[in-house]
Amino acid sequence: MPIDATAPYDDQNIFAKILRGELPCNKVYEDEWALAFHDINPLAPVHILVIPKGRYVGWDDFTAKASGEEIAGLMRAVGHIARELELVEPGHRLMVNVGGHGGQEIPHLHVHIFGGKPLGPMLAR
Ligand code: 5GP
Repeated sequence: MPIDATAPYDDQNIFAKILRGELPCNKVYEDEWALAFHDINPLAPVHILVIPKGRYVGWDDFTAKASGEEIAGLMRAVGHIARELELVEPGHRLMVNVGGHGGQEIPHLHVHIFGGKPLGPMLAR
């Protein structure tokens, strides 16, 4: 069920628990600003989730409240992972779902990285 992107941050969300080490993940990258792991239900041959370490519900509060360092850290992590996984030349897709119409289900900002095959049109027609 999609979340309300304007709700307060919920420290019991799944990605908060993964960040605290209370739930496992299949980690692909971590630095001071971001953690990345394989999606549990991949929708493409490569499907990675990149999350900021800070307590942000989604794109809205992140872009309104995060520091420049936090924003740059998340963006650089996404780029680094795509390069490391050799997704730049074949191409890949980045996606952020926001709130109800966006279909966001986990209330901690996450950037989806999809790749590994031609991904077709941006949205189902
Ligand atoms: P959203 O729809 O919020 O943009 O995407 C949430 C994503 O999180 C979905 O692709 C879903 O498969 C993934 N997901 C949900 N629970 C877990 C989990 O416990 N571990 C991992 N690795 N991914 C999860």
